[in-house]
Amino acid sequence: MSLDGTYDNGNIFAKILRGKIPAARVFEDDHVLAFMDAFPQALGHTLVIPKHSTARNLLDESPERLSPLILGVQRVARAVRAALIPDGLTVTQFNGATAGQTVFHLHVHIIPRWEGVPLARHAGGGMANPAELKALADRIAAKIS
Ligand code: AMP
Repeated sequence: MSLDGTYDNGNIFAKILRGKIPAARVFEDDHVLAFMDAFPQALGHTLVIPKHSTARNLLDESPERLSPLILGVQRVARAVRAALIPDGLTVTQFNGATAGQTVFHLHVHIIPRWEGVPLARHAGGGMANPAELKALADRIAAKIS
């Protein structure tokens, strides 16, 4: 998928938004939904997506939707930090398959980092245990302020 193209309403995050497939939900407001990445690159890997958007990537998004998205990312990142006490946080966002994007609904990754712990492969590692993801989501949700 190139940078240009049409939004596919059947993408996996659109299905999560419609409640068609499960996700370990962390936080939701009028603008954004945060949930655990099912193939985490590190413990606590969380995704934040705009809820009312057909942007495939950052370049597609309107300023009106981008502003609450980045505010949501900061809010969730603070909760991830408070819940898991990482040494650092990697915040990433991929645009186009060549850049590593695999799901074409705009999203931002929040990945906790610990000294000496390497990142697992992007979108290529093993699937996490759903019960463990739910427990992590609950811990992070408890720290949303
Ligand atoms: P990207 O490659 O930047 O488009 O990121 C897509 C992310 O979605 C990857 O980190 C995947 O591990 C993650 N992912 C794929 N399917 C699911 C799913 N059903 N639930 C949660 N995360 C998913």
